[in-house]
Amino acid sequence: MSNRVVQGRMVTPERLAELVEGERPMEAEAIEDAERDCPECGGNVLTVGYMPSVTEFVVGYKCQDCDWAETDR
Ligand SMILES: [Zn+2]
Repeated sequence: MSNRVVQGRMVTPERLAELVEGERPMEAEAIEDAERDCPECGGNVLTVGYMPSVTEFVVGYKCQDCDWAETDR
């Protein structure tokens, strides 16, 4: 199962990447636990790898409980 609950809503990998990136990616890999805590609320952080364009691969991080998100850029 790769869909996860984020801020009370079930999200697909593509939707999670969209929450991190601000726009829908071309492709997204399965959601995984980042095994780190959110720096803002201490909640669980999820990670998803995605391609915002054909030439770029980004790893995104998103808290399950608040708006915090970042990328490895
Ligand atoms: Zn948080």
